[in-house]
Amino acid sequence: MQEIERHVREVPDFPSPGISFKDITPLIEDGPAFHAAVDRAAAATAGIDYDRVLSAEARGFVFGTALAYRARKGLILARKPGKLPRETISASYDLEYGSNTLHVHADSIREGTRVLVVDDLLATGGTARAMCQLVENAGGVVAGVAFLVELTFLNGRERLAPYPVTSLLTYD
Ligand code: AMP
Repeated sequence: MQEIERHVREVPDFPSPGISFKDITPLIEDGPAFHAAVDRAAAATAGIDYDRVLSAEARGFVFGTALAYRARKGLILARKPGKLPRETISASYDLEYGSNTLHVHADSIREGTRVLVVDDLLATGGTARAMCQLVENAGGVVAGVAFLVELTFLNGRERLAPYPVTSLLTYD
């Protein structure tokens, strides 16, 4: 796990003072480390029964895509407004300043579709919670929520209860 962790660069005061940004770009630029991270995430989620992965742009796509490919599952893209060409459903969530909205195609999640929600990092849990809401609004089931990095001191995991949460690296 250290092999993975040492490639996550902590950038102080980005994007604003007091935030310690966890930069995963060195990790995904290193072939063996990226491969190990995806393998670990696949192993950690192997016991979850799911049909499709749902991940949000942009960094969520990196791990969502790799995990879905490796598990031979379909991938659903959650995108910012105006990006998907067909009818969509959406969920909004609050940020520190303002709010964001994520859309998925209305027919991507059907009644009973079991979905693994994947993102690069769990902070407050607002992003992942919005994705879980999208799944449930469409009649699907949140089979689990998986992250590469979890900032435990922000208690995002509590916000995602009762969904099962998996993370590879934790910072407290
Ligand atoms: P949240 O909705 O608060 O759980 O924030 C999660 C999203 O914001 C993830 O998609 C991350 O990419 C990004 N994010 C939030 N905080 C950080 C951080 N300290 N370092 C890197 N990315 C972050």
